[in-house]
Amino acid sequence: MVRLAMLVVVVFTLFDASARTRVPVQSPPADVGSQLLREPPVKTALDRLKSTEPQLLDEQIRLCEIPAPPFKEGRRAEALRQSFQSLGLKNVRIDRAGNVLAERAGTAAGPHLVFSAHLDTVFGEDVAIRMTRAGSILKGPGISDDCRGLAVLLGVVRALEEAQIQTPGPITFVGTVGEEGLGDLRGVKELFNGELKGRIDRFVSVDGAGLGITHIGVGSLRYRVTFKGAGGHSYGDFGLANPVHALGRAMARIADLEVPTLPKTTFNVGRVGGGTSVNAISSEAWMEVDLRSSDRAALATLDASVQKALDAALKEENDRWENRGRLTVSKTTVGNRPAGRVSADAPIVQAAVSVTRALGLPVSLDEGSTDSNLAMSLGIPAITIDGGGKATGTHSTDETFDSTNSWQGTQRAFLLALALAR
Ligand SMILES: [Zn+2]
Repeated sequence: MVRLAMLVVVVFTLFDASARTRVPVQSPPADVGSQLLREPPVKTALDRLKSTEPQLLDEQIRLCEIPAPPFKEGRRAEALRQSFQSLGLKNVRIDRAGNVLAERAGTAAGPHLVFSAHLDTVFGEDVAIRMTRAGSILKGPGISDDCRGLAVLLGVVRALEEAQIQTPGPITFVGTVGEEGLGDLRGVKELFNGELKGRIDRFVSVDGAGLGITHIGVGSLRYRVTFKGAGGHSYGDFGLANPVHALGRAMARIADLEVPTLPKTTFNVGRVGGGTSVNAISSEAWMEVDLRSSDRAALATLDASVQKALDAALKEENDRWENRGRLTVSKTTVGNRPAGRVSADAPIVQAAVSVTRALGLPVSLDEGSTDSNLAMSLGIPAITIDGGGKATGTHSTDETFDSTNSWQGTQRAFLLALALAR
């Protein structure tokens, strides 16, 4: 609601010649998918997308063979920048976070659609990035998540350019950095808080394989928790508070927390470490904890419970030894993805459903943790769509992409871009 009100204010300032003019965003009609299919240039473009899918798969492999470890997406970003440029997009640039942005003008001022996919992978620099292909199966780290999304972006741009389709609203195509893990959505955070702040009407991320439509953004909080103390000899210094023991107490308390099944809310201690040797009272012990929920309030409640568990574990261990070798605990946030959701009835979701049905494809409304989380948390209409095909082993080095009928995903993304840029 706040956002709608803002748009109205902008309309009244249209006569300020220096301002970028904005128009109120109208919802796509309920049958936008079948309407689009009746337009001859659209029909031609869809046929072309199907016949050129093999070339798109080549591009998917080409981009994926360029490593893009967390925080080191630069080389793949440069390759995407060149592709955007050669396809005829304008004002192609890399922002200070490392996102690649490219513009396609509309015939009107709005709605402004951002159509994106993420550049980064979960794989570190030590992982060999090699793609193989056997029949319809493409295999290699990141081939589905999210080299598929990047390829689909290129397919959509090419189809628009070749068919010379003009959309009323401008489209900014973006390859984002920092979607995975500790990247913590830093790419979209820059996108929505940087130069495009307040100028994005609709946001779509194409992420991974399949045909799902993600409209619920699962939020997450991640901590690295470290207990510290004096440390000493296990026998000679017995009687000192022990960071490893405190960590154990904390884990036991977290393991016993009760969380709702609906909205789904979860906790996980994913990594632990610390200690010096079997006969030493360690001076340090740490763990990494991941908390998730599709509901903001439930996540906040869980977070509060975890904080209490950590503080209680610390007190318990210090009290046990009457504060000898008194411990401290530090909690460093290593991830904060806001939860968000767009109603299944919202125009952006309905547009995605409409184009999916128009192509005769099954509709699946999902939840997930993606770049769209940030947009959703800001109240901006946003969804994440799968890019077609099928994936196995996502986030593993044996990741595959089955390209059987994957053109359906490219076609669907293309129709959705058209539906949302008008
Ligand atoms: Zn992804």
